[in-house]
Amino acid sequence: MSHVLSTYARFPVTLVRGEGTRVWDDAGKSYLDFCTGIAVCSLGHCPPRLVHAIREQAGTLLHVSNLYGIPQQEELARVIVEDHVKLPGKVFFANSGAESNDGLIKTARKFGHARPQLDGSPRYEVLSFTKSFHGRTLGGINATGQDKVKEGFDPLLPGFRHLPFNDLAALEAAIRPETAAVLLEPVQGEGGVNVATPAFLRGVAALCKKHDVLLLLDEVQTGFGRCGPTMAWRAIAPEIQPDAISWAKGMGGGFPIGAFWLSDRAVDATGKALSSLMGPGSHGTTYGGNPLACAASLAVLEEVVEMDLPANVARQEQRIREIIASWQLPVITEVRGVGLLLGIGLDVSQFAVPEGKLPAAFVCGKLLEAGLLVPPAGPETIRLLPPLNVTDEEVDEALAIFRATLSSLVTDH
Ligand SMILES: *Cc1c(COP(=O)(O)O)cnc(C)c1O
Repeated sequence: MSHVLSTYARFPVTLVRGEGTRVWDDAGKSYLDFCTGIAVCSLGHCPPRLVHAIREQAGTLLHVSNLYGIPQQEELARVIVEDHVKLPGKVFFANSGAESNDGLIKTARKFGHARPQLDGSPRYEVLSFTKSFHGRTLGGINATGQDKVKEGFDPLLPGFRHLPFNDLAALEAAIRPETAAVLLEPVQGEGGVNVATPAFLRGVAALCKKHDVLLLLDEVQTGFGRCGPTMAWRAIAPEIQPDAISWAKGMGGGFPIGAFWLSDRAVDATGKALSSLMGPGSHGTTYGGNPLACAASLAVLEEVVEMDLPANVARQEQRIREIIASWQLPVITEVRGVGLLLGIGLDVSQFAVPEGKLPAAFVCGKLLEAGLLVPPAGPETIRLLPPLNVTDEEVDEALAIFRATLSSLVTDH
């Protein structure tokens, strides 16, 4: 009997070792890992540079708290701002994606106080989108546009509304005096791999500017190379300028770390910077930005840039799309996504799904039996999240398993 709380319906396999794109279970069977701990192990398993950085830092200094200076945190913030965001701003370090999004939501509330409504009452509302996912904290589930994460947790927090994704007219109609911010994923990950269109992203940015509303990007899953450019919005509408961005997942390569960035842009006529609204005492964390987590993330971000992983991501996306198109399998309805955050849509009427199982989760179980780890994204989509440094051979092998498994499911039907 397990003493672990049963919040997850787990796949029936226990993983004990990993190397590169491969993991092994406790019976010694190996799997190609195109799940990567849900877009976390961006360099694959146990990449030497990351392992070395963690070992070195673990033997030097683990943790001191944010009461003292932390050089690794300063350096990581510099790298994020100068080499990745490339817009002036400041970074706060957290430990997860949900926490980083809570930071964005708190920033929106601060901003709403600094830039109140005409009658002087603060603005507070955060608009987000259906099928979004922003994490499991109370802030995160309220921002998330999916009912399933909220069941049983009401009363919900005030100040959140959800709008249809990629529908600019709906957003324009929804913005009202209370509205302080718009929060969105450039590519919705958990909600089924739904890509914001360039026109939508540009339109959202323009509406935010027009109504003095913050544009908050949740790049927790998409950031740091997963979608090619190190920031996913640049793969879609590179000219937009977000006010704030959250990250986690891939930025630590498997070491838990999250962060959010706030722009230095002025929020009023006195030139007060948005980033200055979160001043001493406004926010905090005990663990966030500790030397070990920052040393790990620095190693990951250096490797992404030095090995030019964005180029490999673009190349492998192209290959995956071409190979899957060449099969002409009717059970595959489409390939959505950007870079190596890809969703394969399934026509679930073409195979039999056991009673009580969601089709995508069922197919993921079959792929696991065949030696390929992938997560679902929504009920009818399989996600491909290989490491950013995945090779041609590994992609070919994974897709061969994918094709054979789907073909046999359809034939058996
Ligand atoms: C995973 C995810 C989160 C939550 O991150 P945690 O580290 O699990 O708290 C938030 N937003 C997006 C877009 C995610 O994919």
